[in-house]
Amino acid sequence: MRHIYADNAATTKMSQAAIRAMLPYLDGIYGNPSSLHSAGQAAREALEEARAVMARGLGCEPREITFTSGGSEADTQAIRSAAWLGARKGKKHIVSTAFEHHAVLHTLEALEKEGFAITLLDVHGDGLITAEEVAAAIRPDTCLVTVMYANNEVGTVEPIAEIGALCREKGILFHTDAVQAAGHLPIDVVKEHIDLLSLSAHKFHGPKGAGVLYARKGIPLQNLFYGGAQERGRRPGTENLPAIVGMAAAFEEALAGMEARRAQVTALRDRLMEGLGQIPHSLLNGHPVQRLPGNVSFCFEGIEGESLLLLLDDKGVEASSGSACTSGSLDPSHVLLALGRPHEIAHGSLRLTLSHENTEEEVEHIIRSVTEVVAYLRSISPVWRDLQSGKQNFVIQ
Ligand SMILES: *Cc1c(COP(=O)(O)O)cnc(C)c1O
Repeated sequence: MRHIYADNAATTKMSQAAIRAMLPYLDGIYGNPSSLHSAGQAAREALEEARAVMARGLGCEPREITFTSGGSEADTQAIRSAAWLGARKGKKHIVSTAFEHHAVLHTLEALEKEGFAITLLDVHGDGLITAEEVAAAIRPDTCLVTVMYANNEVGTVEPIAEIGALCREKGILFHTDAVQAAGHLPIDVVKEHIDLLSLSAHKFHGPKGAGVLYARKGIPLQNLFYGGAQERGRRPGTENLPAIVGMAAAFEEALAGMEARRAQVTALRDRLMEGLGQIPHSLLNGHPVQRLPGNVSFCFEGIEGESLLLLLDDKGVEASSGSACTSGSLDPSHVLLALGRPHEIAHGSLRLTLSHENTEEEVEHIIRSVTEVVAYLRSISPVWRDLQSGKQNFVIQ
């Protein structure tokens, strides 16, 4: 059976360059970077080379890079560090958005229980928030603004440089969860006035379990764990060197090929959006242009997202109804609700996220498959019958 992977926002296939870079560190170079002997020093060199690669890619200095176990850890540490710094000055208010990843939202919920005040801004129907809206939420006791670079469900790319400039001017720390953007969009932490940034290797064809927390020099980090002095004392634990080396190789490759891949994937995305937009009573989620190159997200009226996914899987199309973290629960996506989508249509959502490995032919197969499955599910749906007979009104015209 054919097998079309269109769930690259959940995770990506590792690139051959990343695998090749990792192999020597799985089979041969096994020293501990903290050891003083030659084996340790070989490992240390590889670790620092990987740090230099990540720093170059973000436009920062190597010492501003801390390796973590991934995006969730980096988000948690960034936010907890800023909160702790704020609390020391009596500033215990944080501004964020309602459509952040759970790594951010759940950290904020924990801080709220610890006495912080949290303002979660709603986003517009197109998934965008403006710097002015962020400015309006800032209070004298605000210590942190955290707004994601690009959303993992609806793909919208937020005005990060403007929000960064605003926070810098007001002297408030600015964190961005750039897990979906890193390796796909150009990022410059200096030009965009970013103080803290999280990224994750497995979202750009690197291995799972490796990530980066960038913290602008002078911003002390609060440790989440206790142990040794690795990562300049900011993240104890023996470094996951194979994964870190693989992340650096994947990042380098993603940056070198970024413009070409972006053009190719954007063309596939636009064709997919056009094709799915032909389905009656369908609605694109997120801004049509201001979005990640590979992200296509739709709501289909009268459809149950889970059934859609299972039937698509039967046709060889691997997609998602939202974020992997929420599928399996019956609650509609918090992202779609933050965009103002009513519950009944937020249930009928479909996210297809493409990579440079997808082809035009695959996109045509996806369009045919989704069109057929949506028509089939509607044909057996009592809700659809009520919509057709006028007993119930359409939400999506
Ligand atoms: C995947 C993802 C994360 C979590 O990253 P992990 O490395 O899987 O912990 C955080 N934020 C966003 C936006 C993501 O897409």
